Amino acid sequence: MQVRYWGTRGSIATPGPSTLRYGGNTSCVEIRSDSGALILLDCGTGAHALGQSLQGQPCSGHILISHTHWDHIQGLPFFAPLFVPGNVWHIYGPRGIGQSMREVLAKQMEYDYFPVALNAFAAEIHYHDVVEGGFSIDDVWIETQYLNHPALTVGYRIEADGATAVYASDHEPNNADAGRGCCEDFEGGDVDHVDFLRDADLVIHDAQYTAAEYPAKVGWGHSTIEYVVDVAIAANVRHVALFHHDPARNDDAVEKLLAAAHQRAEDAGSDLRITAAAEGEIIELRGALDDARSMPFRPSSLVKPGGDIEEELVLISGVGEAECALLAAAAKADGVPNWSELSPEALKIAVQGGNPSLIFIGDDIAEIDPIALCAELRALQSEADRQVPIIVVTDQSKVDSERGEAAGVTDWLTRPFSIQYARSRLRAWLMRSMLRWRKAALPRDEEARLEAVRALGLLDTDAEERFDRHTRIAAAALGAPIALVTLVDRDRQWFKSHLGFDFSETPRDIGFCSHAILDDKPLVVTDALRDDRFAENPAVVGDPHVRFYAGIPLKLANGARVGALCIVDHRPREISETQLKMLQDIARLVEEELEQPAAP
Ligand SMILES: [Zn+2]
Ligand SMILES: [Zn+2]
Repeated sequence: MQVRYWGTRGSIATPGPSTLRYGGNTSCVEIRSDSGALILLDCGTGAHALGQSLQGQPCSGHILISHTHWDHIQGLPFFAPLFVPGNVWHIYGPRGIGQSMREVLAKQMEYDYFPVALNAFAAEIHYHDVVEGGFSIDDVWIETQYLNHPALTVGYRIEADGATAVYASDHEPNNADAGRGCCEDFEGGDVDHVDFLRDADLVIHDAQYTAAEYPAKVGWGHSTIEYVVDVAIAANVRHVALFHHDPARNDDAVEKLLAAAHQRAEDAGSDLRITAAAEGEIIELRGALDDARSMPFRPSSLVKPGGDIEEELVLISGVGEAECALLAAAAKADGVPNWSELSPEALKIAVQGGNPSLIFIGDDIAEIDPIALCAELRALQSEADRQVPIIVVTDQSKVDSERGEAAGVTDWLTRPFSIQYARSRLRAWLMRSMLRWRKAALPRDEEARLEAVRALGLLDTDAEERFDRHTRIAAAALGAPIALVTLVDRDRQWFKSHLGFDFSETPRDIGFCSHAILDDKPLVVTDALRDDRFAENPAVVGDPHVRFYAGIPLKLANGARVGALCIVDHRPREISETQLKMLQDIARLVEEELEQPAAP
């Protein structure tokens, strides 16, 4: 995989003699996989020169937009390949609640701002709204995660040719102490951020400020070099590139920043490689990743929420008057018409009786502990309900991650926050909440069942021919592209054998086998899109596009249903009695293998 910087500057383009070394164009990074896939990360003013370099040749590719602030999209109307008939371009960006990426991009090309409209692009353009998850472009695998910025922003994690590059711009530390570089352990959102960067060969990271400058810039949505070095070390990153250089910094100032970053890594005893991204610089990434995918399966990023925004309901409790007005304004600005402020008692009743989309609990009522209230609300929710995000509004000093996690707190909104921040966080939480589908109930004997699963000693073991032969036979006998032997663990379905599906596990929440283990009877779904339980499941609307499923529960002699043998197809279909009987026979053989010790 090859990486080339065309624009490294944040906020506004700053061409001139003092920015020659690191460049004055705003965000644009080109990525090419060995197979030739062309991917642009953001489309700031740097995209203009890239477009010129591609002139005179047919050229198609993919543009991944982090968010729609000017410095990340202003090069789009000047990117020449979009005006060439015959070219095909795909544009991806975070999906807002009320409007799509295409609608937002069209605005900067309206009559008052630009001489040609979005529909003047002569190339064939496809727009894709992304949410958190994963998707593929040719042989490139891409994961998305929301960043912390006063506009809905996604980071992109790109895996190709055995190497991984992460693009994380723009992003502010979730905890201001982490931004000041004086945070012993990361908490909450910063832990998620570290996980997103984990083991990457290259991380291109917003590093606009220093810790000394940060107190005056809290809430502006950017990172400090101290934070960048700290998260990169914590995530075992090989090379981090400081990016989104502040427009006020000339080349010498960027170099000073770089020297300070080197010093910080050295003081921490780390051999992390740190550079400052420079316009024109090319990086070859050769990773050590072997072909076997080590990343867990992630549900598709290219999913539209099925819910209607008009039906979403935001509940607010224990939040002071001014903050409540701000949260309500944020909800309204994003087109969520239904919100109400309730007393803690009324909130409990509302949670029992309804299905809110999002709950804010503040610490503004003296005798109410928001974390304890959250635990009470969780206890009132039934298992089958979608897990409503519960956000605690409080001061940074009162964030207690450990207690919060035990009580089921989804996230924290810490003071002070602007309406822009409240909006982007609200969007991210609502997008996550609206994308829920019906997850399986827990079996009555869940704890004993889990014990039985683990007692098999098979979880996370290597593939074995004695199981693989059964998935091969099942797939061939029923003409299905995918056959699996699944063990349903506490939070995942893990595959002892997976034919036709690259991943070794998927989250239990989206698993069909988590439904199959609820009964002794086979579970047959002839068309997932027409089944309320599965129609919005990310494994149905996105990869691997499950349309048909037939699963036979795998039952041990002691009665525990530990998993399933299943076949999956990408098209709706029927299954005959004879075929179902055959699948059941194969399942019995798999059960025998489950209780046998592995052959020496
Ligand atoms: Zn920016
Ligand atoms: Zn921005």
